[in-house]
Amino acid sequence: MKTAKWNYKGVVIFGPPASGKTTLARELRLRERGVFCLEGSKVLRSFGTVLSREEARALYGRLVKSHGKTFIGKALERVALKKGGFVIASGLRGYENAVYLKERGYFVVCLEASQSALLRRLCIRGDGRSLQKEIKDEERIYHTKHIKKVAHVVFHTEKERVVAMAKKILDEVRYRECRICVNGNRNPVIRLSGEGYCDICAQFRKYFRKSILKDELRAFTSQVGKGHRGFDIMVGISGGKDSSAMLRQLQKRGFRILAFSFDTGYYPKHVFSRAARVARQLGVQYKRIDIRPYIRPIDRRSFALTAALYDEKPSPKLSEKFRRLYKEGRKHYSVKCSHALPFVRTCQLCRRVVIRAYYAEALKHGVRTVVLGINEWAHLSKHGRAPEFRATRVLKPFHNKPAVSIVHSPFLFRRTEKETKKILKKMGWELPPGEKLIETNANSCLFARAAETKALHMLGFHPDATRLSREVTAGFITKKRAEKALSVTHQSRYSVRHILAKANIL
Ligand SMILES: [Zn+2]
Repeated sequence: MKTAKWNYKGVVIFGPPASGKTTLARELRLRERGVFCLEGSKVLRSFGTVLSREEARALYGRLVKSHGKTFIGKALERVALKKGGFVIASGLRGYENAVYLKERGYFVVCLEASQSALLRRLCIRGDGRSLQKEIKDEERIYHTKHIKKVAHVVFHTEKERVVAMAKKILDEVRYRECRICVNGNRNPVIRLSGEGYCDICAQFRKYFRKSILKDELRAFTSQVGKGHRGFDIMVGISGGKDSSAMLRQLQKRGFRILAFSFDTGYYPKHVFSRAARVARQLGVQYKRIDIRPYIRPIDRRSFALTAALYDEKPSPKLSEKFRRLYKEGRKHYSVKCSHALPFVRTCQLCRRVVIRAYYAEALKHGVRTVVLGINEWAHLSKHGRAPEFRATRVLKPFHNKPAVSIVHSPFLFRRTEKETKKILKKMGWELPPGEKLIETNANSCLFARAAETKALHMLGFHPDATRLSREVTAGFITKKRAEKALSVTHQSRYSVRHILAKANIL
């Protein structure tokens, strides 16, 4: 995937007089040669000749009247468009301009300093006659104090050195990607270390232990022949390559298997016929299970809110909303969550329903283990303990009912893409037409597909980037493969609302 060098259109620096805006802009320019720099006063000057601060304010007042409160922002956008590329603008004023530019993809910096420091600096410049009045005027006209609330970053210029400020800004605005996976700093929840690893890769490198998987595999295989009602395990399949290879592998180990596909109403119909065929070929019993009865009123509300979110017209404001909700969604995808909210990542909402269905269906069929072909792992970390990377997640929602384990078989068997291919070849399995071996969720789910393009544009990164990253982190696929999968977007003829309505969920 080709990624631009920048996460923002530019850096815009706000702050009261003598807060150090120009100094900071100069430092940024020194470190980032070739970018276009602009001083706010020059934007004003392009509307007329300005000599003093008082005259600038008077002109500002007139221009606000004739061009509206965001005229500086608009003028800056025009100049930036003409110049093309990344812009660093200092000496800007006006709360409304800060909001305007933030919404249009600029990184907003707010500088502050104590009154005494401002006075000292203004005195050195020889124009510190009445600071109190100066600051009061400034605030009355530009509402500078409010900018703090909307800025991406606020620096206290007495506490931080200009070099450090410039470095922090550039770390945010330059696009950086993990050295291992496809997680980048465009994603608001990803932090990259100084060495260039995302938190997940850094932890995986440090804490992943093969011995844990060995123990898990032993516990897993000990269940052969232990099931209560004719089946030892349930295996979720889509008839795709991962699940087919997995089914074959488990069958060879002697498990009595009930293969199944969950029907949510928004998976393509061919999934079920394909899955049934694969199961039949291997002589495994198969069941299609409608899980819509597991949708609680609270999930239904979340589906409705999600449809409404995806109905909204694209705008800079909506982009902000998507990024905020993306972060929010991560706190609410657990089955234990009792909030209704719109989900940017459709899979997180789906998960709330699916996990509960896994548990209930396992008990219903007398098994204690559900095996999935999803390249996932459970990342368990408790306070004061090193995180553990496990293939098994244990569900025990009720203390008086048995636990059910969800096993992610690719991670348990450490099955790589190459091995999957080998197994499939032996089975004589062919890739369905138009399907790639590695793909995003939009390929196999109509809900994810309907959301994909808008999510990508509003977020600035692909909603499945973190999922594919996990596969790269664990060594299942190469970074190149993940990039390729993410670069393909799937055209959906239908809206999220349409898909959910057709599935009888709305
Ligand atoms: Zn990474």
